[in-house]
Amino acid sequence: MPVLTRLIPSPVSVDIRRGAMDDLAGLLADQRISSSGRLAFAISGGSGAALRDKLAPVLPDADWFAVADGTIDSAVRLADGIKGKRYDAVVGLGGGKIIDVTKYAAARLGLPMVAVATNLAHDGICSPVATLDNDNGRGSYGVPTPIAVVIDLDVIRDAPVRFVRSGIGDAVSNISAIADWELSHRTNGEPVDGLAAAMARTAGEAVLRHPGGVGDDLFLTVLAEALVLTGIAMSISGDTRPSSGACHEISHAFDLLHPKRSALHGEQVGLGAAFAMHLRGAHEESRLLVEVLHRHGLPVLPEQIGFTVDEFVRAVAYAPQTRPGRFTILEHLDLSTDQIRDAYADYAKTISS
Ligand SMILES: [Zn+2]
Repeated sequence: MPVLTRLIPSPVSVDIRRGAMDDLAGLLADQRISSSGRLAFAISGGSGAALRDKLAPVLPDADWFAVADGTIDSAVRLADGIKGKRYDAVVGLGGGKIIDVTKYAAARLGLPMVAVATNLAHDGICSPVATLDNDNGRGSYGVPTPIAVVIDLDVIRDAPVRFVRSGIGDAVSNISAIADWELSHRTNGEPVDGLAAAMARTAGEAVLRHPGGVGDDLFLTVLAEALVLTGIAMSISGDTRPSSGACHEISHAFDLLHPKRSALHGEQVGLGAAFAMHLRGAHEESRLLVEVLHRHGLPVLPEQIGFTVDEFVRAVAYAPQTRPGRFTILEHLDLSTDQIRDAYADYAKTISS
């Protein structure tokens, strides 16, 4: 008997609009995620406190847990705090770090996790991965997909604009990640999951070709939806392939080589994607990426995020070691440091002409 369809792990509710957070209690009750209102909220010490003050009156049975940072220790501490208190679900209310810490804690306890994103810095909002700092630097941990995702555009507008723009870089980097996946298919026969690729590519293209900016609701909606769809694409493929290729290897290299100086994830992967597209000879696509990143105020050259050309060249040379087993344009070309330097000079010349 052939399998006629497949089930896709995905949230039961995705609510992206202005004022979405005001209806959070109703949404959780309606979706039978929490009928008792017994919820554990994880928040940051900073902006999380203001949101707690706003929500606490309508969620009298919720408990609030402050999360200090995005480390695995914080995630374990959160899980220990929540354990044994019969909550219906754990709500991560904050940016990427809070959401990742919450995902990991919820997974440890077998509780459903609700993501309430307060910025759009990357595609981890709805992904089956928690990225956490550990003793070896940074690790990616497989976790269940959130059961519900809430993105309130009024809250997003209050976030520092840099944290919203960062998501643009992460979304458009899908274009380069999928080109890497297809390259690996042609070169090594690695299977490409067509549905995961379709969702991630469409998400990236929608952001890439949208004429709006972070100041308008329609653009923010498309960006938020693109980040959610990219997360679901990762659930479909069972790994980060749809959204992570050479672009992300270069960014991971920055994180590992310069942990104190690295820029935002989306800033680094956007630059990585533009350079990777250039490397693969897709100069038109590279130019379009550069144009769009530049229009949104994102970096297209390493010095715009405080790195010298030498540091960039070294990061690109180191990048393949950050994801052993992943085949991208970097592993394919296997360039020497001098060749990377030449390719970078050509990239910089091409985008400035
Ligand atoms: Zn990413």
